[in-house]
Amino acid sequence: MARVVVVGSINMDLVTETDQFPRLGETLFGKRFAQYPGGKGANQAVAAARLGAEVTMIGCVGADAFGQQMKAILAREGVDTRWVSTGREATGIAAITLSAGDNAIVVVPGANHELSAADIDRAEQAFRDADVVLAQLEIPFATVCHAARVARAHGKPFFLNPAPAVALPDELLDLTTLITPNEHELATALQTPGVDWRAILQRMPGRIAMTLGKEGAYYATPDGQLVHQPGFAVNAVDTTGAGDTFNGALASFWHLGMAEAIRRANAAGALSVTRPGAQGGMPTLAELERFKS
Ligand code: ATP
Repeated sequence: MARVVVVGSINMDLVTETDQFPRLGETLFGKRFAQYPGGKGANQAVAAARLGAEVTMIGCVGADAFGQQMKAILAREGVDTRWVSTGREATGIAAITLSAGDNAIVVVPGANHELSAADIDRAEQAFRDADVVLAQLEIPFATVCHAARVARAHGKPFFLNPAPAVALPDELLDLTTLITPNEHELATALQTPGVDWRAILQRMPGRIAMTLGKEGAYYATPDGQLVHQPGFAVNAVDTTGAGDTFNGALASFWHLGMAEAIRRANAAGALSVTRPGAQGGMPTLAELERFKS
């Protein structure tokens, strides 16, 4: 069983469905409201835990009901929440309005932006015990960089899912074992717009696993050969959280080697899109085994 430390965001997604978007200053009745656990960090932690990894989450929530709910949800999934701290700001939320196939989203990071280098240092034992450390970019950039340094100090692989996309400084690139962008994130993260992604992958062999939706994922071997791990054909109903499932799975199966870890991450990602919701669609290890065979 892999031991995965996830350093990242914890949000509550608040989803309203309406017949039309309200105009400025207008009040409308909506049709439905629901709240779903979210945040890339929490999503990836849950994905890894469902697949059998021993997961520790390092994050920050507010001293409010959403914070308590998110910690309870993570704990129910078997995620160790000992290092989820409580900040002064409110728990991060995404206010999502859905109407006729379109969406409008406001994200308030809140307590996620209070996750600090000191929180990482407090959780040093988790790094010492980890097989893989996995982070995204919905928490302060300085905290991500510090987590990468602590992972390096303990000789642990550091995976970075560069979402939302920003240009990555050389220091962070050097500290990162594996970057897991989609095509758009790759161009932004490495500041290579207009450059063929195949050339980028070949320039950084074994350092990038790039996802490409239903096509699966690509990487380059140490001798510079491009490898396509094809996706699994499924009936997609909701692709939300596919990337998070892929990342959680990749970290969980990393000990099996790049090719097999990506094959399983593709299978997990494919299964996740066959069911609605981000965390709602994430498969268990048993479901993944049945699906692959
Ligand atoms: P998102 O931000 O929507 O979660 P992403 O852009 O980060 O997604 P994708 O490349 O869309 O990531 O998907 C991640 C992985 O999930 C893919 O590499 C693939 O394995 C799987 N996947 C995504 N969409 C599909 C699909 N329609 N059919 C099969 N597998 C899929």
